[in-house]
Order: sequence, then C-alpha cells, then structure tokens
Amino acid sequence: MLIFRQLFDPQSSTYSYLLADGTTNAAVLTDPVFEQARRDEALIHELGLDLVATVETHVHADHVTAAWLHHRALGCDIVVSAAGGAAGADRQLAHGDRIVFGSRHLEARATPGHTHGCMTFVLDDESRAFTGDCLLIRGSGRTDFQQGDARAMYQSVRMQILTLPGDCLLYPAHDYRGLTVTSVAEERRFNPRLGGDIGEADFVGFMNNLGLPHPKLIDIAVPANLRVGRPEQEIAIPADPGWAHLNFTFAGIWEIEPRALEEVAPKVQIVDVRENSEFTGSLGHVRGAQLVPLGELQARASEIARDKPVVVVCRSGARSAQALVLLQKAGFSEVANLAGGMLRWRAEGHPVEGGRA
Ligand code: FE
Repeated sequence: MLIFRQLFDPQSSTYSYLLADGTTNAAVLTDPVFEQARRDEALIHELGLDLVATVETHVHADHVTAAWLHHRALGCDIVVSAAGGAAGADRQLAHGDRIVFGSRHLEARATPGHTHGCMTFVLDDESRAFTGDCLLIRGSGRTDFQQGDARAMYQSVRMQILTLPGDCLLYPAHDYRGLTVTSVAEERRFNPRLGGDIGEADFVGFMNNLGLPHPKLIDIAVPANLRVGRPEQEIAIPADPGWAHLNFTFAGIWEIEPRALEEVAPKVQIVDVRENSEFTGSLGHVRGAQLVPLGELQARASEIARDKPVVVVCRSGARSAQALVLLQKAGFSEVANLAGGMLRWRAEGHPVEGGRA
C-alpha cells in the first residue's frame, strides 16, 4: 500500500509530496518548504513514518527548501539533481537513478528547461509522476531565469512526461489557481502550451514572450537552495511558542498565518505598523488593531502591553517583519508577523474594519 499526501505552502503556492511504503513506513518528501518544516514533521510523526530522504525537483527560486532542517531533525538524506549544482547534499542524482523507500521507488528523469538541473520523479508503477516546475497543470514552468531553456523544456515534456501512460497522474510543484492534479492524457489534450500538435517553435515563441515579473524571492531563495537550505549562520530554532500555531521562517522570525490569527485574535494584541493614511485607507485594518507606525514604534513601545502576545501587521508583511525585530530588541518575547500582511488577510476573506471592497 502506498501512503500519499499532497502538502501545500500558501505563501509560495508550492506543493510538497509525502510518499511512503505502507509496509515498512519508509517515506520520501519532495520539495519540502522551510516554513512548513514543523507541520510536515508533525505529520510524519503522526503517521508513524520513517523519512529516509527529501528530494528536490530543482533549485527553487520562490521558496527555501527544508531539506537541511529535516536532515538535522530526522537524519534523512538530502537528495538533489547532480546537474543542479547544490552543495551539501548526501546524494546527487543522474537520469535513471532510483530513490528507494521500502519496497517502492521513484525513478529520476532529467527534464531540463525550467532550470538545467530539473528532474521529474516517476513512481515505480508509473501511476504517478512529480513534474516539479517542468509541466504544470495546463501550463509549464518559466524558462526566463536561472538556466531556462524553452527548447529543452519542450523536449523534456514531450519525451519524458507525455510518453508516460495516459492514466498516469501528474503532480506539479506549484499551482496558482487551486488545481491539485492532472493526468498525462489530460495534458496531452488540453495543455495550451505543450499539448496536441503544438510544435517546438510555437512553444519557444510563446515562452519567450511571457514578460513575467522577476520572482520576488529569487535573490534569497536560489543562494539558500544552492546550500540545500542551510542558513549561512548556524541557527538555533527556538522551541514552539505555545500561544498560537506559528511558522519559523528562513529569515529567522515567527510568522502567523491569517487563519491562525483569526482563531487567536481575542487573546493577542494586534499592532498595525503602517502609516495612518493606510490604516484608514482602502485596505482597512484587522478588527481591534492598534496603529503604531513603524517610524514611531521605538518611541511608543511603552503603549504596547507586555502581558499579551503581539502580532504585527503591515501591507505585505515586510515592514511588520522589521517591527518584529524592533519589538524583540525592546524586550517583547512573544511576537509574530502576520504572513502576507493585509493583502493576504483580505485576499483570504478575513474580516476587515474600514476599507473598501
Ligand atoms: Fe521553480
């Protein structure tokens, strides 16, 4: 029996996949996300699994891998593609290599195009394949940064992925629209970039004219992932704070997801560090939030009660991360940053005071 879980990181829209052999409980985890390491380890413990390896489909530009964190906590191997160039792995894969977990295995297939080290992992019975950022559901990964190569991607998808059995389920490393899985037959028919009779030149022309913005985290994520997610300085990850479900970020700060904040809101103090005009502006603010603009925070820290945990909020989560550091320096120990700020709070439909629709 195969144990299979699809795990999602809402910040980067990344899917990680946990696969385990139900007889031996040996498990592998693909593309683990740094901020989700605690969640994923809790699941692994609850299911009684023995994580033998984390495995990366590629060197990611949009999130930092949790490979090193899991290696440190669970002793599992860090497995990457040899062509990806990451240092610090226990094993480097070549095309055709197997990643064994108990009586099951994944076969690694080189599928360059998004990066030159990209791999697709095919389950032993060809019932499932994990395509990373090569083939996405009705789409494909970008080919306009890192070592992107649209011609290589076309060949990878056509020769290594769409040649699998039609009923083989395909699981990508991302989806931005809420889709979770597709199949080879579906993508052969409906993929608007790579399906049907679309030729290589059509695909290359399409990909070279996407005009997408530079990924936000690329300058942090790529160097970190080239070290398999090992922080530059050894970090001591503090024990879980008991007051809410928090994630510890690669930047070294505690974050709270919007839904978790809604649950604990009555018990915490919410400090909004935007400017007054933003607080009363179109985005509105979280109900009960206290306005202390970032520039005044140090001088007005005494206005913030010390007997309650503090959640700091701004527009996108960047200024509030700075505010968190300032508050910690001022002696506040229970502080968390609202992940994604008011933008995500609103996008996920949480209640807002003031603001406009
Ligand atoms: Fe990627």
